[in-house]
Amino acid sequence: MQDKISHLKLKCMKTKQLIQQCFLFLLLTNATVSIAHPGGHYQGKEAIFNNWQLKNGEAIKGNFSMGKGNFIVLEQENGKLTKVFIENLSEQDQQLALFKIRKYDQLNQSYGTGQQSINSEKIGWNYPQFFILALLTVVTFLICRKGYRLFTEALHTNTKWHVIAGYFCCLSIVGFACKKTAEDSAIMSSITTLFIPKTTTGFIDSAFSPNKPAVTTRWDDTYFYVSSTGIPAHNMMVGITNWQQQVPIPQNYTSTNSWSIPLQPVYASVPLSTKSNFMKGAVALAVNGIPIFNALNNRGEDSYLIGELDNWGGHCGKGDDYHYHAAPLHLSTTSGLKPIAFALDGFAVYGSKEPDGTTMAALDTCHGHVFANGVYHYHGTSNYPYVVGAMKGKVSTDPLTPAPENQILPQAFSSPLRPATTPLNGATITAYTSTGSNAYRLTYQIGTSFGYVDYSWDAGNKYTFILKSSSGVTTTNSYQR
Ligand SMILES: [Zn+2]
Ligand SMILES: [Zn+2]
Repeated sequence: MQDKISHLKLKCMKTKQLIQQCFLFLLLTNATVSIAHPGGHYQGKEAIFNNWQLKNGEAIKGNFSMGKGNFIVLEQENGKLTKVFIENLSEQDQQLALFKIRKYDQLNQSYGTGQQSINSEKIGWNYPQFFILALLTVVTFLICRKGYRLFTEALHTNTKWHVIAGYFCCLSIVGFACKKTAEDSAIMSSITTLFIPKTTTGFIDSAFSPNKPAVTTRWDDTYFYVSSTGIPAHNMMVGITNWQQQVPIPQNYTSTNSWSIPLQPVYASVPLSTKSNFMKGAVALAVNGIPIFNALNNRGEDSYLIGELDNWGGHCGKGDDYHYHAAPLHLSTTSGLKPIAFALDGFAVYGSKEPDGTTMAALDTCHGHVFANGVYHYHGTSNYPYVVGAMKGKVSTDPLTPAPENQILPQAFSSPLRPATTPLNGATITAYTSTGSNAYRLTYQIGTSFGYVDYSWDAGNKYTFILKSSSGVTTTNSYQR
């Protein structure tokens, strides 16, 4: 009996020692996890940063932090993380980036938990973390249970090392997992995107293709150029209830007066709001070669709401130039899921669906968002601001006209053919039809009476306007372009 008690005592001592060793080990592990990477991955003031050469001749300093698909994330001074698209790097540094990504992937695969956690947009518990936690909890429970039984059988001790060790074990694991989750969240939210991939000309061209040959396209290294006559394939003018007496005539948006879409968009440090900018000229170009102007007119009124626009969201300006102020969502009929326009900052404008056919995601104040491919785009909607709320991309403006009359340069211009006309109060445009080769009739109604504008032009660009007022007065004017 005495031997049995001695044996139990010895066994209990050994177990107690083991538990104490485990406890110390866990305490050390916990401390190591807690002090690892203090304050993130910033390497301190003495850190040496690598130089990454960009295609555009610029360089960016930073150390490879992570990479995935078409981008890498560089850790810069003060721990700042910057996302750089690989295609913006020089050929040599592209190779380096791809090599680093491969190494990074290998590391993550051997580590087992890192890649999924860091790269996943939805950061939280993942399978391996949960599995390890569950396993360790069971082991800890078994150790505690056995230890407790031996203790109670042999000694009436109050020092419950096994319970304390169990608690610390769980706390360590939970602490580690939470810390990692918090670090991952911090990394993802602190990444800034400075460089945007250059838009491929094939992508832009495919958006304009359904409207060829009415529009023609060409490009160089900087811009994608679009030429058109400014006359769309759809009918015009019908539905206008607030008419300035202008009518659509062909424009010379060709050659050096073509529309220019920048191929390399750059984020504006402060996007310029269309409420207080760009009251002159276009903010975007629809894929049928028709410019899209600010939704507000130069008096700050919503052109659509005050009846200035036709059933297609357009009307004519002082140069008898047809343009939209609302989003030409009807172009989706021929464009499908492709962009319906491009803003003059270079970002695409989509219709009411995402490029992958899904429902449009929430829009920011600029009226767009960054899509899954990492590239920003706008959306056209049937409510204000319709197309562009603020210019997400950097644009140059004409120094001669200050805001809100500042207009984006470069852009194509219309040239007035005839003196400015005046609003015709109470007129509603009811029909617009072709009456022959280069000849059109616009019909409007005031009360129960109808008025007409018959106009045409000849091969020598002589334009003739015959105005028949609703009270029966006829006026004829000719202008040479
Ligand atoms: Zn207008
Ligand atoms: Zn979208």
